[in-house]
Amino acid sequence: MVKVKVNQDTCIACGVCYSLCPQVFEAGEGGKSQIVAQYRVSGSLTEGNVDESLKDCVESAKNSCPTFSITTE
Ligand code: SF4
Repeated sequence: MVKVKVNQDTCIACGVCYSLCPQVFEAGEGGKSQIVAQYRVSGSLTEGNVDESLKDCVESAKNSCPTFSITTE
């Protein structure tokens, strides 16, 4: 399991993460990134628990985010 978080305070809605990894990220309000419903931690749009099989997808989005708004553990 990979824990992933999006910081919408620093997200600039560039769309890179949800272009690269739409299985996990989607456009929320104003184009800011959020986690798709399937993987959200309950009650949060910006925190998710993602299956290990999507780790590479998440990591590529994280590494491509221009504002370092995606974190994993
Ligand atoms: S790549 Fe980063 S800045 Fe761009 S939409 Fe995703 S979280 Fe926001």
